[in-house]
Amino acid sequence: MAVQVGVRLQPNQTLVLMAPATQVGAARAVARAAYAAGARSVRTLFTDEVMERIHLELAPEDALADFPQWLADGLLQEAEGNAAFLSIIGGDPENLKGIAPERVATSRRAAQQATLPFARLQMAHRVAWSIVAAPSPGWARKVFPDLPEDEAVAQLWEAIRRTSRVDGPDPVAAWHRHIEQLQARRNWLNSLEIRRLHYKSPVTDLTIELPLTHQWVASGQQRAVGHATSPNIPTEEVFTLPLRTGVEGKVRSTRSLSYGGQRIDGIEITFAQGRIVDFCADEGEEALRQAIETDEGSHYLGEVALVPVDSPIAQSGILFHNTLFDENASCHLAIGAAYPTCLRDADEIQSDEDLLAKGGNASLVHMDFMIGSDDLEITAQTSSGAETPIFHRGRWASPLTD
Ligand code: ZN
Ligand code: ZN
Repeated sequence: MAVQVGVRLQPNQTLVLMAPATQVGAARAVARAAYAAGARSVRTLFTDEVMERIHLELAPEDALADFPQWLADGLLQEAEGNAAFLSIIGGDPENLKGIAPERVATSRRAAQQATLPFARLQMAHRVAWSIVAAPSPGWARKVFPDLPEDEAVAQLWEAIRRTSRVDGPDPVAAWHRHIEQLQARRNWLNSLEIRRLHYKSPVTDLTIELPLTHQWVASGQQRAVGHATSPNIPTEEVFTLPLRTGVEGKVRSTRSLSYGGQRIDGIEITFAQGRIVDFCADEGEEALRQAIETDEGSHYLGEVALVPVDSPIAQSGILFHNTLFDENASCHLAIGAAYPTCLRDADEIQSDEDLLAKGGNASLVHMDFMIGSDDLEITAQTSSGAETPIFHRGRWASPLTD
């Protein structure tokens, strides 16, 4: 699935595989599948979250801003050589708990800055990339705290298989059926020509204006690399970008969030003319502050995504403490960078300035946070001025038709 559907590896294409050191088995399985699909080379970068923690704990303050330029250059070089990039994720969601958020933020910012040229290609889908998950013991213990470790890992594997739709006899066919449904939703949203979305729940009252040339996007249509890829497995979202200066009101998050090994919960943000003018969090407020204060763009939103509360991931009842899963269980927003492919005229965008000029947002940050709940109502104001219900009680307001 990761090779055939995720990055949709082409014959003679190189695969750059990023994997945790605890997932050697999964990485080897991916490599075999990649060569079976005609890979030219599989280059593997193993990372270790414990080493990352040791570095953030013990390195001298000024060394935290160092990022190996050779690594950033290497990623860019592989991208320019048309390699595909697959990440296996699944670390401990609280790996960096207890480390000063400023130290984490300094290191993260250095990495984001050094890899920005590569990240831009990714955000514009000018390289094929995808993210899949495999459970580490630390992650499994957080999701199933009452189970012995072995059993927790086995249960989490099972949950990943089910939510990624790879538990049936023909996972690739099942995935394509699923993507067709998401695309039918996308087509409906695009046909409405939405100008403005209004989110209302007991804890949220938010208006989001959309740029005139916005388009709704679902997985499996990122065609900038010439063929459709699925950047996230699993995926349940249909998403677009907000007008940078068109967000007004107040929103509260409904699921806890793991952001780079730090837990953030109970986020409340107030927007005026798109900009964050006030924020707080019940837990992890300092980590949230570090993210929001990264740059000017991290004071604005970059993504608006719709996911019903009856999505299979939400229905599993599992809180994954991992954004790849939790964001696909809930409507979400992202602070920071927008995906240029959410604009119909994305081909004309060559720089951050172009993206800003079209009403989008640019930033080093892209931090998703979940705002869905079964008492969320979303209403759209369309180009004709009509009001159309989009979500009722946290679910799609109208049945799927094609
Ligand atoms: Zn999203
Ligand atoms: Zn996102």
